[in-house]
Amino acid sequence: MGIVKLDRCRIPATAVLGRPRAGLKVFATAMQWERTCLLAGFLGAAERDLGLCVRKLHDRSDREGSMLRHQAVSHRLARMQVKLDGARLLAHRAAWNIDQGHADYAAAATAKLAVSEAIVDCAQDGLRLLAGAGWCGEPVDFAKALADTYGGLFASGTSEIQLEVITRHLQSGHLEK
Ligand SMILES: Cc1cc2nc3c(=O)[nH]c(=O)nc-3n(C[C@H](O)[C@H](O)[C@H](O)COP(=O)(O)OP(=O)(O)OC[C@H]3O[C@@H](n4cnc5c(N)ncnc54)[C@H](O)[C@@H]3O)c2cc1C
Repeated sequence: MGIVKLDRCRIPATAVLGRPRAGLKVFATAMQWERTCLLAGFLGAAERDLGLCVRKLHDRSDREGSMLRHQAVSHRLARMQVKLDGARLLAHRAAWNIDQGHADYAAAATAKLAVSEAIVDCAQDGLRLLAGAGWCGEPVDFAKALADTYGGLFASGTSEIQLEVITRHLQSGHLEK
């Protein structure tokens, strides 16, 4: 998002990261970590917000009773849970790969794609469910959550770039044998 200009930068040989000519590997390893871990905190926040949303909708009622009795409401909550659970499992798998020393860049891209899209979807769903209260930040500021999570769709590579990584992995696994 900005221009980096390197002008007469002399770096001592002792400052080399990895081995000379292995820069791509250093970058790929950093991306594997970043795409795996970057959004984990947002996932936790989304899970917390989902819980607050359930409580708020339970307590909010019309003349017939709690909002939660409407399936249009409860099913949206259930879908939020499913999206977050799936994203969490994919993040765990990507982190497990790092722990095991597996350079599985596609698993990291899959986790990043799934988590970034799940947290945006959940912020959007939460806002629709709480409507005016969500806009006003009561009990969750979903308008702010939406703005916060949206950047996750681009940071560490856009969704299209994650799909490119996954596509290359898919093709190398099935076409290049
Ligand atoms: C909140 C936030 C935090 C960030 N933090 C950092 C940071 O800490 N460090 C850092 O270095 N950068 C950071 N970034 C920058 C981020 O990595 C870039 O914005 C991102 O990689 C996209 O690059 P770009 O903005 O240049 O978009 P472009 O590369 O110009 O892409 C424009 C559009 O073209 C599409 N596109 C580009 N190439 C392809 C392709 N091959 N196939 C299909 N579609 C393609 C993209 O998906 C996008 O829709 C951050 C961005 C955000 C939003």
